[in-house]
Amino acid sequence: MTIGVVLARTGSTYRVHGDQGAVTAVLRGRLKRRDDDRVVAGDIVELELRTDGPATITGVRPRRSVLARRAAAQRRPRAQAIAANVDQVVVVASARDPEPNLRMLDRFLVIAEANRIPPVIILNKIELDRGALAGLLRRYGPAAYQVLPTSVHLAEGLPALRDLLRGRASVLTGPSGVGKSSLVNAIQPGLKLRIGEISEYWRAGKHTTRAALLVPLAGGGYVVDTPGLRELGTWGVDPDALGGCFPEFRRLLDHCRFDNCRHLVEPACAVRRAAEAGEFDPDRLVSYQRICEEVSVPSWSSGRRRGR
Ligand code: GDP
Ligand code: ZN
Repeated sequence: MTIGVVLARTGSTYRVHGDQGAVTAVLRGRLKRRDDDRVVAGDIVELELRTDGPATITGVRPRRSVLARRAAAQRRPRAQAIAANVDQVVVVASARDPEPNLRMLDRFLVIAEANRIPPVIILNKIELDRGALAGLLRRYGPAAYQVLPTSVHLAEGLPALRDLLRGRASVLTGPSGVGKSSLVNAIQPGLKLRIGEISEYWRAGKHTTRAALLVPLAGGGYVVDTPGLRELGTWGVDPDALGGCFPEFRRLLDHCRFDNCRHLVEPACAVRRAAEAGEFDPDRLVSYQRICEEVSVPSWSSGRRRGR
């Protein structure tokens, strides 16, 4: 028996990264009958290697974390695993071209928090506007989020980014044009191309186009390529748990007058009071309130509310 990490899946075939490199594997019969997302990219599996064919996956280790989509169009929303054992969500923004979209940034952060995966913020293109860093540090300091400035053009912050990714499985996300591809290529030339190739091969199947895949990094660790964290959306996030997705709110949540306070209009709300007192950027509360309205409406009407 040997241990490996699932890199990708197409249909009933898995690519598994082990001591001997990557091998093709199939599930043993007993596992096959379980849920569809029983084994996903990032899962640590037990393997029996064979000389006469694909290896057999005989067991799955307990997951440290699960990145999940809450499947729509069902009477009861069900969390569908997209990737397992993701260690961090790296949210990339740029100082300029485009300027940080704070509302969107907060959404990415909430998606990470709702999946209980710690986020880190990268502020790329820092050479275009050095002043942009202070703004982000002020906004995200109270939440204790790390903000790492980088410049692909000046090769700044790249060793720190390499350190951040080393030995971990990381989802890189953020709006287009901020420099995600450039960063990935700067820390490992050819990596973006490799992600493209692997994606094309392993996402050929109809049902796998929305699955995640892992690409090994030269220094250890993986970049987790997902079809888009944004698609996971915030809907399905439990409105009662949303306050906890803003780390700077957490210590306040027990101090609102009402146990089920939504921090919208309720009297004696400790979160709103702290925002007014400037204990954190009140605009974070605005982000919270927008998302709260959105996740509180029934899913069948959420289409109307999207894109605000
Ligand atoms: P992605 O859509 O997030 O993958 O962004 P890309 O990597 O495709 O980069 C978008 C544009 O930003 C390209 O024209 C890059 O050359 C440029 N870019 C990337 N990093 C930097 C940077 O650090 N500074 C500046 N000025 N431009 C950058
Ligand atoms: Zn409150």
